[in-house]
Amino acid sequence: MGNSYKVIPTDYPLPVNIPEHCPFCDHDVSIDCVFSCQSKAGRVYACLCPRVECQAVFFIRWVNGKFTVYPSRANMGKITSGIRAISPDFYETYKQSSIAESSGLNMICGMGYRRAAEYLVKDYLVAFADLDKSKEEIYKMSFSSAINMLPEPQLIDIAKASAWLGNDEAHTSKKWTDYDIQNLKSFIQALASYTSFKQNAQEANHLIYSRDQQ
Ligand SMILES: [Zn+2]
Repeated sequence: MGNSYKVIPTDYPLPVNIPEHCPFCDHDVSIDCVFSCQSKAGRVYACLCPRVECQAVFFIRWVNGKFTVYPSRANMGKITSGIRAISPDFYETYKQSSIAESSGLNMICGMGYRRAAEYLVKDYLVAFADLDKSKEEIYKMSFSSAINMLPEPQLIDIAKASAWLGNDEAHTSKKWTDYDIQNLKSFIQALASYTSFKQNAQEANHLIYSRDQQ
């Protein structure tokens, strides 16, 4: 049986609207296409991220003028990149979990979201709670102890719900059968939004305080 695809020569120009973005490091890059082929089902481009810090390999599929990038990109929802200043590990873990989810890895992405929630709660305590504990001490606490030290009852409720639904994703028996990963993500996004709110309130306070001193 012969090949059902035709290799496209490497000097063949890339489509002008090819997405020039690396799904691994999330940077806009000039696509370095190392291999491409054409079949009845469309074209496939194997690409290399030109950034030396990344050098990831990824694939772009082109069918009827529409591009799909593999691995899929993260869907961060309401989570803004500014939260990286408070919890870089939360942002990265949530992003990787989202990539896993959009790649169809539905049996494991929930565990990742649970881990992301734990980073966020603990980094929230480090940044905003006056606990007289070091970051290392807070990181060593159990997730449930950390949640109970959050300074506001509503925050505790949302974090606890995230932990409970997250545990459903990490164990073999599911307790909260009426809820799923979408509910878990919604609680985590609420925690992240509140953290961003606190971050902005702190910045506003610094601004006002510095004005008072002038
Ligand atoms: Zn890259």
